[in-house]
Amino acid sequence: MNVLVVNAGSSSLKYQLFDTEKNEVKAKGLCERIGIGGKIIHKVPGKEDYAAEIEMKNHADATRILVETLTDKKVGCISDMKEIEAVGHRVVHGGSYFTKSVLLNKDVLEKLELCKELAPLHTPPTLMGIQGCLEAMPEVPQVLVFDTAFHQTMPKEAYTYPIPYEYYEKYGVRKYGFHGTSHRYVSAEMIKLLDKPASETKIVTCHLGNGSSISAVKGGKVVDTTMGFTPLDGVIMGTRSGNIDPAVVTFLMEKENLSVSQVNDILNKKSGFLGVSGISSDCRDICAAIENGDERAKLALDILGYQIKKYIGAYSAAMGGLDAIVFTAGIGENTPIIREMACEGLEYLGVELDKNVNDNVPRPIETTCLSTKDSKVKIYLIPTNEELVIANDTADIVSNK
Ligand code: ADP
Repeated sequence: MNVLVVNAGSSSLKYQLFDTEKNEVKAKGLCERIGIGGKIIHKVPGKEDYAAEIEMKNHADATRILVETLTDKKVGCISDMKEIEAVGHRVVHGGSYFTKSVLLNKDVLEKLELCKELAPLHTPPTLMGIQGCLEAMPEVPQVLVFDTAFHQTMPKEAYTYPIPYEYYEKYGVRKYGFHGTSHRYVSAEMIKLLDKPASETKIVTCHLGNGSSISAVKGGKVVDTTMGFTPLDGVIMGTRSGNIDPAVVTFLMEKENLSVSQVNDILNKKSGFLGVSGISSDCRDICAAIENGDERAKLALDILGYQIKKYIGAYSAAMGGLDAIVFTAGIGENTPIIREMACEGLEYLGVELDKNVNDNVPRPIETTCLSTKDSKVKIYLIPTNEELVIANDTADIVSNK
């Protein structure tokens, strides 16, 4: 089935056209500067890359232009819009409503509207992307795949915040977790590599990118994860603080006379690697600064290494054991030193990293075993593929509807 996977941001729309039978990407690209100009960057394997500046007033314009590009004789890869058989959308927040991917209909759209409040930055662009596809391809079925869905198996004691219960009842304030599609993909791949029944597996998955989260996946189901009510919680990230004492927020608001939006901005955009190092949010810049002897850059990286290790320990306790640790996403796949820091000192748990393999992962990066032959716990690098999960879920749901 030809599935168009769409990931809409506030002024951008990433897309990939998949042939799910052949497991092949037919085209991928990005519409950007939506609403403030418009540009499309489009790549088809075996053809020269294409880029053009075309006005995109809104997401509907962007969708129409991407469909025109996909069907263009010269730069496209299909001859007719009808060859797009389904659309799969990445949706950041599905609240408590969505525990798995769903076919879009009126009821689903209404529930998604209710989730807007939970992810005010992400949901409106997603809704615009959905609307854009409805306008450009009204006959094509659309499926929603949620970042929060895989985490919906967490037990109550893991997702309930110890604040007055009425806030959970009134506003849905609880831990939801994010990057679920990635945790689901890499944990399923890891389960295939373990020599035991899926129901007995205990895996810690570390998705480390600009945003990072770590999950405990027991028997294929999430029992805990580091991100929370929003993607601000958990480990240190590029510009996000991760978890801190909540009293720091009110203390700083008082001392610095900060508004709600200012403190939000500090915690989401000025903290993390950037805030601690004062240099950059990008792990490559942090590593380069460490080479030049920068102490605060080293501290930023040390925090991440320490926190990952701490969560591996905590989640082993939560699951009652550990079979495997998986590293994925930009930092997890590309930064050997972080993997080394995270595993160092965990020998007592049966974790033994093969430093030589870890330091010399061949490129292009593929699934690689990083643990020693004798390590009781397997350590793997597994490149994530969220788009593939979205395409396959979409094909499954549309074929069975
Ligand atoms: P996002 O969360 O935006 O999807 P990514 O998963 O691409 O982000 O991760 C971005 C992070 O990964 C950055 O900190 C970047 O430094 C790091 N990273 C990405 N690619 C590489 C690479 N080839 N080498 C080293 N670090 C990389």
